[in-house]
Amino acid sequence: METAADFFGSLVFNDEVMRKMLSKDVYKALRRTVDEGKDLDLNVANSVANAMKNWAVEKGCTHYTHWFQPMTSITAEKHEAFISPQEGGKALLEFSGKELIKGEPDASSFPSGGIRATFEARGYTAWDPTSYAFIKDNTLCIPTAFCSYSGEVLDKKTPLLRSMEALSAEAVKILRLFGKDVKRVITTVGPEQEYFLIDKKDYVRRKDLIYTGRTLLGARAPKGQEMEDHYFGALKTRVSEYMQDLDNELWKLGIYAKTSHNEVAPCQHELAPIFTTANIAVDNNQVTMEFMKKIAERHGFACLLHEKPFAGVNGSGKHNNWSMSTDSGRNLFDAGDNPRDNAQFLLFLVAVIKAVDEYQDLLRVSVASAGNDHRLGANEAPPAIVSMFLGDELTEILESIAEGRRSEGKAREQLRLGVHVLPAFPKDTTDRNRTSPLAFTGNKFEFRMLGSSFSVSEPNVVMNTIVAKALREFYDVLSKAKDLDKAIEDLVHDTYIKHRRIVYNGNNYSSEWVEEAAKRGLMNLPSSPDAYDTFMAPKNIALFEEFGIYNSVEMHSRYEILHEEYSKTIHIEALTLIDMINRQVLPAVMEFSSELAEGIVNKKAALPGMNVEAEEGRLAEIEGLVSKLYAANNELDKAVKISSDYEGSSLSHYSRSSIIPAMEEVRKYADQLELIVGQKHWPYPTYGEMLFYID
Ligand code: ADP
Ligand code: MG
Repeated sequence: METAADFFGSLVFNDEVMRKMLSKDVYKALRRTVDEGKDLDLNVANSVANAMKNWAVEKGCTHYTHWFQPMTSITAEKHEAFISPQEGGKALLEFSGKELIKGEPDASSFPSGGIRATFEARGYTAWDPTSYAFIKDNTLCIPTAFCSYSGEVLDKKTPLLRSMEALSAEAVKILRLFGKDVKRVITTVGPEQEYFLIDKKDYVRRKDLIYTGRTLLGARAPKGQEMEDHYFGALKTRVSEYMQDLDNELWKLGIYAKTSHNEVAPCQHELAPIFTTANIAVDNNQVTMEFMKKIAERHGFACLLHEKPFAGVNGSGKHNNWSMSTDSGRNLFDAGDNPRDNAQFLLFLVAVIKAVDEYQDLLRVSVASAGNDHRLGANEAPPAIVSMFLGDELTEILESIAEGRRSEGKAREQLRLGVHVLPAFPKDTTDRNRTSPLAFTGNKFEFRMLGSSFSVSEPNVVMNTIVAKALREFYDVLSKAKDLDKAIEDLVHDTYIKHRRIVYNGNNYSSEWVEEAAKRGLMNLPSSPDAYDTFMAPKNIALFEEFGIYNSVEMHSRYEILHEEYSKTIHIEALTLIDMINRQVLPAVMEFSSELAEGIVNKKAALPGMNVEAEEGRLAEIEGLVSKLYAANNELDKAVKISSDYEGSSLSHYSRSSIIPAMEEVRKYADQLELIVGQKHWPYPTYGEMLFYID
């Protein structure tokens, strides 16, 4: 029998395949490109392209595509056949190095935030040789970066690669000060992905799910997640078959899907892969999301990746586990077992603390979306205030360093001699607090604010760049130091004191924390439009320009896209809701109330004096709600029309402050009606039906 080990990676043009299919020289040259970031020579590219094509064709491919990540949350592909015409009406299957390295999709229909006028709308895609090519739907997919012809970045991969380079360069300089011979530092990422599975039959009956990914209406089911009986519960057969199928498909693509389990809400599940290099993790996560949806179809499910598909039960997020390791695989956030390594660990740790404190706003922006606004700050996801959890032990070590609690001389000595005492931080002591937005969990940081539908690229671009910045500043100090050990001690001490306000180990869901955070001067940006407005702060532009991640034009385009995406999302939701009310809910309720009215008339006619109290009471109740619903829906319609007076940032703020409340008002009456209108009249599957389906 074929086992998972046999087919793992069978659809990936990975290192093993390359070694087999490329000549020694070509293989070596390609590895130099991958490992050291050297340019790829066209001859080498031609050989690689040819081998790739042969491999893909053997596996049934007829097409290839430059697979890229425009500034939406999804991936884009333009399929080209390998076919090339020959004399005599024949055709050859060809694929050149040029085609491998560079493609030229028409970029005019991708969001660019006004960077390109249409006449120069062509962009080009460039192969990212550090991420393996793979086969999907009989198409060879080549992971690529996407730029405009004038060189502006139009995608999510390019800045990520740049930020990884930036972080590597700064970290290497610091490590050399510690006498480490390290060529490169790699950012590692493991994103845990939450999702919902519901029956496809229910899904297709709800326009809100189809158009917006979430339910815009729906009264709570009598049962929600209060019994806490779903988390890690036994999997339903159909769900478990789905998960197996999904794992198999992902394994073929070389994605280390590792753990699957039920989540807190009914119908909610999670998939976690084993971590890998950041850009590969991002690519893999995009493929994972795509396959989650695709495989769901096979099993009669719809997979919902929206952050808040159902009100009243938990939404879905994504935990971005982030760390740094050397090219030899040493995790830089593993506390050391000798003095020097401990000092190094503490230095990197305070670099992250400083970075997070100084760029709270950028981290917040990187997780802001209309969908995620339903979660952040609700009692299920971290609040909109960025802070860090370090755990009591580690905090105590930093506090004692800061306070010089041990006598001055001794504290110094301890640090210098090694905080031998630095314990290994076992997961259970560092991972207890699930409420923190950014938790140090043993040897990595878990950024928990991401929404489930996000590309994990942006949050990692930010993490990498802000930490690179902190390390660069550290290097400036340390490289001039006469006594390196003392300079390191001072830096750890001073940095922690300056930035410890960002560390909070308490309950982030509590209202005390909101007050406390305000006292500490931390930023609280509850809604996405508020967050986006901080993006263009001069310090943020300066940061990205300094490291060549984005220039100010690119930043501005991103800023516009963010606001635009937000406003469009709300706009679509509002139009969908108006349509559902006008064409389905109101007609259904009116039909039901007509039936009631007829019943009353008939009964009275049949037997004067008959008791029709119940019917009359219900009818009056419904009529009261219907007129309120009707009025609220008209108000919403008006609010949407007015929105055409706004644009850009002001439109997204208007959407937030006017359209969303108008939608909530509509929902309030519709949900009340749902609970009293006859079941057979209600046009949609209810929360109860969707969340507690029988398999
Ligand atoms: P959980 O958070 O569910 O308790 P774990 O802490 O074991 O689970 O791991 C969560 C995720 O973190 C996994 O995807 C794992 O691969 C990833 N992870 C573990 N170590 C690292 C690391 N050094 N860098 C990045 N991600 C990591
Ligand atoms: Mg986790």
